[in-house]
Amino acid sequence: MRGPAVLAANVTAPGLVTVRPCRTPGCGRSSVKWRTVCWTCKSRAYRRARATPDPVAVDRAVHDRYAPAGMTRPERRAAALQLTDLGLSAAEIGRIVHVTPRTVSRWRTAAKTRSST
Ligand SMILES: [Zn+2]
Repeated sequence: MRGPAVLAANVTAPGLVTVRPCRTPGCGRSSVKWRTVCWTCKSRAYRRARATPDPVAVDRAVHDRYAPAGMTRPERRAAALQLTDLGLSAAEIGRIVHVTPRTVSRWRTAAKTRSST
C-alpha cells in the first residue's frame, strides 16, 4: 500500500521530493527528503534532550518510589539524589531507580564534592 503510493508521488511530482539543506545554522549537510534537519543534527538534539533530566519523570519516580522504564541515566541520578535528601538508604534507592547501591553512593559522593567546591 505504502510502496506504490510513494512510487506514484515520485513519478507524478518529482519536484516535490527534494533534498533540502539542514535547517541548523552552520551545518552544511543535507537533510533527508521528509525532514528539515540532517541525521547528524537530529541525533545530536536527541542526545542533548536525553542528557537533561525531565523534572516530571524525576518527580514521579521520587513521589511514587518507583522509576518507570525508559528513564534516562541523568533522570535516575536526579531521582536518586532527591531520595537521598529524603533519608533513604542506598540499597533502597538502588531498588527504586534500578541501579546498584554502589552506583547510588558514587552519585552521592560526586554530588557532595561538586556542591562543596
Ligand atoms: Zn545538520
